[in-house]
Amino acid sequence: MKLFIDDTTSSAKPLYYQSLILLFLPCEKFGEGDNDNSMYVKAWQQDGMNFVDVRLEVGDRVSEKSCRQSIDTSVYSQMKNLIGRTILDAAFELFGTVPPWGISTGVKPVKLARMFVKAFGKDEALRILRDEYMIHPGKAQMAVDACIFEDGVMENIGVKPCSLYISIPFCPTKCNYCSFVSCTTPRLLSLIPQYVLALKDELSRIAETIKGLGLNLKSVYVGGGTPAILSAGEIDLLLSHVYNKFDTEGCEFTFEAGRPDCITYDKLKVLSDYGVPRISINTQTTNDEILKGVGRNHTYADFVRAFETARKFDFKCINTDLIAGLPGESPKSFLKSVRDVVSLSPENITVHAFTLKRSSNYRIGGEKSYSLTDAAAIEMTDCATKHLTDEGFLPYYVYRQKNTVGNLENVGYSKKGFESIYNIIMMGEYHTVFGAGAGSVTKIVTDNANKVDRIFSPKYPYEFLDKEKYAGFDARRVCELLKER
Ligand code: SF4
Repeated sequence: MKLFIDDTTSSAKPLYYQSLILLFLPCEKFGEGDNDNSMYVKAWQQDGMNFVDVRLEVGDRVSEKSCRQSIDTSVYSQMKNLIGRTILDAAFELFGTVPPWGISTGVKPVKLARMFVKAFGKDEALRILRDEYMIHPGKAQMAVDACIFEDGVMENIGVKPCSLYISIPFCPTKCNYCSFVSCTTPRLLSLIPQYVLALKDELSRIAETIKGLGLNLKSVYVGGGTPAILSAGEIDLLLSHVYNKFDTEGCEFTFEAGRPDCITYDKLKVLSDYGVPRISINTQTTNDEILKGVGRNHTYADFVRAFETARKFDFKCINTDLIAGLPGESPKSFLKSVRDVVSLSPENITVHAFTLKRSSNYRIGGEKSYSLTDAAAIEMTDCATKHLTDEGFLPYYVYRQKNTVGNLENVGYSKKGFESIYNIIMMGEYHTVFGAGAGSVTKIVTDNANKVDRIFSPKYPYEFLDKEKYAGFDARRVCELLKER
């Protein structure tokens, strides 16, 4: 698509225009591209008024819209939002849908909601999100509710908090929708024993750093990949080290076991013996045909078996992930997945929106767009929200990714009292999170959560293990960044 922008007010960056178009054409490329699609936007001010003209051409269809509005300097991003609404008006004529998150293109809707809740209170925040950002009422309510819940959690987080993420970037096979750099080949999987030993060294350095800085560990998350790909002995080695080196008193601890095909009684027993309170067992869908189609090496029955085995232990919270909009899924079959999972009584259910990610097998294989209509995708998540809230699960954290099916969001639902602090902190970037292992990121949060510095670990385990290329966790840099402010 070619973009012609003539905005004398410079209210919006080029990326904003692209992000709005991507809401309707998720794989569109910009510049001199492979099609004749185009958008022309003219924005200017005159005689106390904002003016916006939009002409949108997609294929052989054309839509033209014009809007005007009195200039009100007290309104946040007034001209940018007017441009956004005019583009959405034009797009509605061609595509017949309004994206659920309206003209908001950021990945953190809760942050947007917080800005207005703080300035004007809950009711006015809801009105602004609905009327000025064209966000669907249910989504606006979800963002505002999550904001209020998060603020309550953060008020009670205590002094000098920090969290820890431990990366296990290995999986038994690669799911077709995944863009994560998880290692699945026999050669890379053979590195696991070495990797666990190197991870222990890295964790020791992080533990010393946390102690030296006088920080208090509030949450630990072992994620992947598929952490349950480790053997029971390796899990034992890792956990004994973590519990020895870190002060985990009162600290939330999650082990994302992950794929049911890696979960065994012995591994669950090790987790339970260490008193790990939270685990995740993920199926993404309970439809066997779809599981096969997306390249997951397990069935719904395998998931049920893993889940019921876990219930023989005393885990306080089991989370299950679902994905809305996987290829082949319909609103009816997705609602069945939701009902199936609810029938097992997990404490948390996370509903992700399917995304065609650039480095996933789907995109590499040439998939360019979603087969599912936006309306069907929205119906899936709306039905899921209704069923889950009816069953006593409340949405407590929300985030978005680019190019999701139906422009939908990822939502963490929880039974009251089982919410994950780690998820809230990660998405909200409220305090420093130390990352251990390949593919992890240490996020140094300072300046009252207004500044985030990132230190990236090597992406792949073989780089992480290469002592000539990677000197290990950079405690000096972390301390400098944390003490600077
Ligand atoms: S289990 Fe998760 S991390 Fe591993 S390939 Fe599948 S989606 Fe990616």
